[in-house]
Amino acid sequence: MGFLSGKRGIVFGVANKNSIAWGVAKAMADQGAELALTYQNEAFLKRVEPLAEELGADMVLPCDVTDDDQVTAVFQELERQWGHLDCLVHSLAYAPKEELRGEYCESTSREGFLSSHEISAWSLTRLAQGAYPLMRDRPDASILTLTYLGAERTVPHYNVMGVAKASLEASMRYLAASLGPEGIRVNAVSAGPIKTLAASGIGDMRLILQHNEERAPLRRNVTTEEVGNSAAFLASPLASGISGEVLHVDSGYHSIAM
Ligand code: NAD
Repeated sequence: MGFLSGKRGIVFGVANKNSIAWGVAKAMADQGAELALTYQNEAFLKRVEPLAEELGADMVLPCDVTDDDQVTAVFQELERQWGHLDCLVHSLAYAPKEELRGEYCESTSREGFLSSHEISAWSLTRLAQGAYPLMRDRPDASILTLTYLGAERTVPHYNVMGVAKASLEASMRYLAASLGPEGIRVNAVSAGPIKTLAASGIGDMRLILQHNEERAPLRRNVTTEEVGNSAAFLASPLASGISGEVLHVDSGYHSIAM
């Protein structure tokens, strides 16, 4: 029996096998969770459907987080089919490619700033608002998001995404304070750099990966499996005393100065 046996969760953000969300979904399913997955739009469906099948997940729902009706429909469907929810994983982000290169001051536009904050930060609060009514009577319900060190320190080319991640982390703490009295925990995993579809939009991602590998205490980059295992732990009753936390899963890189 796994440590998520009997738990039902939804994972937002699987695009393909390289997605961190996929690493999280697999780890949660390995620990006994029953899962639903969402996909951003039809273009992603053909990749997400077979992955859902691999997990035995019957619910595969469309959800572009900028579309309020789609978000509402996701939680209506969860209520109809399950009546409750134990875990929610928010593993999605977006910023226009042209904002993720060059210097922050020059590269950042009003539109880019607003869209990256809407999709990468506001969406966590929106999803928590949808999930909360389904979670409040559950023992040890949990909401989890994915963030990056670029929220805390500057990272070349991460630019507006770092500012959106700082907003995401603050939102996580406010949600933890707001939902904690109902027994709902809210946390973030700060993952080290990993080659994914979203990461390929960041200028010089190759150098970021190389730099982390050379300098992190463990002298290597992390895998989606490692991030997934830590996320599954945080989502589980094993982490019942943890809320409002940012857990770094980055080979220790966040802890070094030189
Ligand atoms: P990914 O491309 O596999 O996943 C990003 C997901 O965001 C995709 O599934 C995409 O469909 C979704 N998305 C984008 N816009 C959306 C919208 N409007 N509505 C719904 N979904 C939308 O890349 P990933 O690296 O696995 O990213 C997952 C999360 O992990 C992101 O929050 C990212 O910032 C974070 N993260 C990534 C790294 C890394 O190096 N890859 C490091 C730390 C944190």
